[in-house]
Amino acid sequence: MAAGRYAPSPTSDLHVGNLRTAVLAWLFARSTHRAFRLRIEDLDTDRVRAAGGVEARQLADLAALGLVFDGDLVRQSERQSTYAAAVDGLGDRVYECYCTRREIAEAASAPHPGPDGFRPYPGTCRDLTDAQRGERRRRRPGALRIRADGATTTVQDLVAGSVSGIVDDFVLRRGDGVWAYNLAVVVDDLAMGIDQVVRGADLLSSAPRQAWLTEQLGGVPPAYAHVPLVVNPAGVRLAKRDGAVSLADLAARGRDAAWVLRWISESLGLSAPDEPVTLTLLLDRFDPAALPRAETVFDLVD
Ligand code: GLU
Repeated sequence: MAAGRYAPSPTSDLHVGNLRTAVLAWLFARSTHRAFRLRIEDLDTDRVRAAGGVEARQLADLAALGLVFDGDLVRQSERQSTYAAAVDGLGDRVYECYCTRREIAEAASAPHPGPDGFRPYPGTCRDLTDAQRGERRRRRPGALRIRADGATTTVQDLVAGSVSGIVDDFVLRRGDGVWAYNLAVVVDDLAMGIDQVVRGADLLSSAPRQAWLTEQLGGVPPAYAHVPLVVNPAGVRLAKRDGAVSLADLAARGRDAAWVLRWISESLGLSAPDEPVTLTLLLDRFDPAALPRAETVFDLVD
């Protein structure tokens, strides 16, 4: 069955921007008669542990908004051997890279960063001899990168339209052994039958690389919708430091989950201020073509 998904990282509590994206992912999936799956992106175990107990709160918050998921929850930390098998399957197109971030930025051949700060990997470790690899490996463990041969990929985004990007030799596994976000997302979306990816616009620049990797793994890239972000009054992407932005913090200020759903709905132009809403009502009114394209400001006034 075709499916959409929501894929939070349990490194900090969901804020109203994350919750709005989750509601949109649900609306996109349900309005196109897709299943809706939940995946916990918990590969960075150090950060997950340091955050402490976030997953349980994320599940409770999604449930408080009324979001219901199909099938079993998928946890990336339980899928390490699947990522290893996928990388094995890519054969000798995968190579070890010993560069630090700084070395990449300072490489003579380093391309200038693009408007989004994305700096394609200059290929320093692509063609090392075995002797050079042995010598560098003694200094630091290698990350794994995929040889992309400068491919360019275009994805059709339901919100942003046609988006092209250079696919550089991106990282599949970090030097510390943690499987990279771009690899895990693609492997999991394929395994879970995800054919619609709805997420925040901050991840738009990852889409060409992920679509390309999907094809290398024998799959068809999903439909993408990168939805506008929620920002603070200064126009900066909403974050925990912006004060009362999670359900728990808002509840302490007298705003319950129903208030948050009303705020989300109004911000999407789906209801009038203070009009009572349910997810079913939003689904009735949802029209992807009418989705506001601008960022929304969250400014809690007591
Ligand atoms: N785990 C990512 C995040 O929380 C989302 C990844 C995705 O939807 O592809 O930002």
